[in-house]
Amino acid sequence: MKATAPGRINLIGEHVDYQGGMVMPAAIDRYIRAFAQENQRPEIRLSSSRSKGELVIPIAHDTPFSGDDSWANYAFGVVAKYRDAGYEIAGFDVRFESDLPVGAGLSSSAALETAAALVVEEILGINLSKTERALLCQSAEHDWAGVPCGIMDQLAVNAGVSEHVLKIDCSTHEITQVPLPAELSVVVVDSKVKHALADGEYAKRKADCDAATAYFDVEFLRDVTIDELDSARLQIGERVYRRARHVITEIARVHDFSAALDAGDTTRAGTLMAASHSSLRDDYEVSCHEIDALVKIAIRLGAIGSRIMGGGFGGSLINLVETDTASQFAEEIVACYRKEIGLDVEAMAVKLVGGACIEGIG
Ligand code: ADP
Ligand code: MG
Repeated sequence: MKATAPGRINLIGEHVDYQGGMVMPAAIDRYIRAFAQENQRPEIRLSSSRSKGELVIPIAHDTPFSGDDSWANYAFGVVAKYRDAGYEIAGFDVRFESDLPVGAGLSSSAALETAAALVVEEILGINLSKTERALLCQSAEHDWAGVPCGIMDQLAVNAGVSEHVLKIDCSTHEITQVPLPAELSVVVVDSKVKHALADGEYAKRKADCDAATAYFDVEFLRDVTIDELDSARLQIGERVYRRARHVITEIARVHDFSAALDAGDTTRAGTLMAASHSSLRDDYEVSCHEIDALVKIAIRLGAIGSRIMGGGFGGSLINLVETDTASQFAEEIVACYRKEIGLDVEAMAVKLVGGACIEGIG
């Protein structure tokens, strides 16, 4: 059998999903594909085009992997979550093939989890709802990969709709499908920068948000207004204040952005993406020089909007451009960056596609 899971972009709403905020992601036409078959043994055999060798894992195995094997946490962690939920899983072999950049902010992790989840469900003959499956994958990422991520990536990978952006309320998991006008396109630029500090910094941002929610005695920062935050500035301290200001203003920008798309006001949409980038750079402090330089070049080349996307400290930027300029924009940003900074980046004009699915027996 074959399961296909797409990566995702996020137009706006960055670093707010774990604070119950609003986000606007979409699944894209870069995929992880899982080719699987039952093996009549009490074990799972995993391999990937992005990793050497094969891992043979007893179904009862219950501790996370480390070192070269740590990628298996995203795949086997999901198997273990179905097992822990009480399902009896027959052994299978699975090979993952991928044209989705890894660690570039396009959510290869959620795509890998979801592809594994669909294989398990096909073998079990069950079909969880997209939201249930997303939550199960998220818990595998928390408990096996040790990443305390929000729910955006898994929901986007599972619930994507062709030519649509999803407006997701991350506290209720309610999803509204918003058509992306045909004259607008998305170009992703993978900066190829991967700063090693990313993991620890993510946990620090989360801890700062937790300090703010503890002060206000709320579950999520979405429940705090900017006026309430402003009046607590001295008490919570400048760093926590700025982290919370990013989250609260970013959630407001998502509502404004979706209204701007509805009204066909692309200039306003672009301004909001620029404000999102500034907030991520200055208040949340998750950007880096390379991405800041790329955003400047993107705007100069005529992007409607451009901002860092994903966890930060490198990874990708997302650009909203006019469709008839998309391929030229992609070529030019690579050439300009090479000329001005002397480094190579990869630009991809992407299509918005449907969510993960099983593609029949094979
Ligand atoms: P992102 O989700 O933005 O791509 P993450 O750091 O969350 O970045 O997840 C990347 C990790 O997911 C990789 O380090 C690897 O462990 C795993 N991964 C993703 N795609 C694959 C793949 N095709 N094969 C093996 N492991 C993969
Ligand atoms: Mg990820």
